[in-house]
Amino acid sequence: MNRREFLETIAVAPVVLPALNGQASADEWGSPVFDLHFHLRPQPTANVAHLDGAGVTRANLLTRGPVLDQLKALEAAAPRRFTWFSSYDVTRPDVEQTLTQAVKSGAQGFGEMKFHVAADGPELRRMYALAADLRVPILIHFQEVDHVPNEGTWSTGFAKTFESILRAYPKTTFIGHADAFWANVSADYHDDAVYPTGAVKRGGVTDRWLGDYPNLFGDMSAVSANTAITRDPEFTADFLTRHQDKLLFGSDCSCRDGRGAGYDNPAAPRMKGRCVARETLSVLKRSASPAAFQKIVWGNAQRLLRIPT
Ligand SMILES: [Zn+2]
Ligand SMILES: [Zn+2]
Repeated sequence: MNRREFLETIAVAPVVLPALNGQASADEWGSPVFDLHFHLRPQPTANVAHLDGAGVTRANLLTRGPVLDQLKALEAAAPRRFTWFSSYDVTRPDVEQTLTQAVKSGAQGFGEMKFHVAADGPELRRMYALAADLRVPILIHFQEVDHVPNEGTWSTGFAKTFESILRAYPKTTFIGHADAFWANVSADYHDDAVYPTGAVKRGGVTDRWLGDYPNLFGDMSAVSANTAITRDPEFTADFLTRHQDKLLFGSDCSCRDGRGAGYDNPAAPRMKGRCVARETLSVLKRSASPAAFQKIVWGNAQRLLRIPT
């Protein structure tokens, strides 16, 4: 090979960055990224694969039940890349004791809370009070419409009752998530669709309460949040500006590699084979100012979870 051929070869060679144990992808989005909503996977490598593939720096693991051994293995495999929330059946009598112990063991919040109870019922009210006592946020899945027959609904009554909860528990930090939370950015939602589309009717309760209540935050994970910020671009730009201090990026993605492998949500055919993290980060990146983007994908979570830098 002469010199000219050599130069041509290196000019077209792909630039392969060495894997720097979690640092390699930190700059893909122009900001470090924190995934607030990542369900713990059994194998340490499966967790790291999704973060690395999607360009995510750190993630908050949503767990249920005893997981300390799994968390230790993951921390050993990927130090300082994970925080965790804990959840437990809210109808069981030992729930307060179990979640208190989880926080003593290092859990930084409750979640996700996804149970077939009313959002203003006695089971979740006990959790709201406990979260305030322990000074940790509580992340709640709100859903009024089945995805599959007989699925049942989760933390029901959001639009009708949750304002009374926000008022009754001012010291509790609430993080809203899922279908009913995000469908209610629009004032015309009547618990009739899983992922409503089309122009947003201004004045939905989620939009209003994020503005009115300092104790309410929004988890931008899953197809629900992705739908809310893709259905009406004009709304999205205003919404992200308005609530840039109250929104937290999350994925809730089940794809294997952070690039969409194996993702298939029957209620959202448009997302098949796509990574929810990548899709939502792309929308946020093009819809928010650089400063607002940085808050939503990183800064707000660091502050809310009091993560040391
Ligand atoms: Zn959920
Ligand atoms: Zn993914």
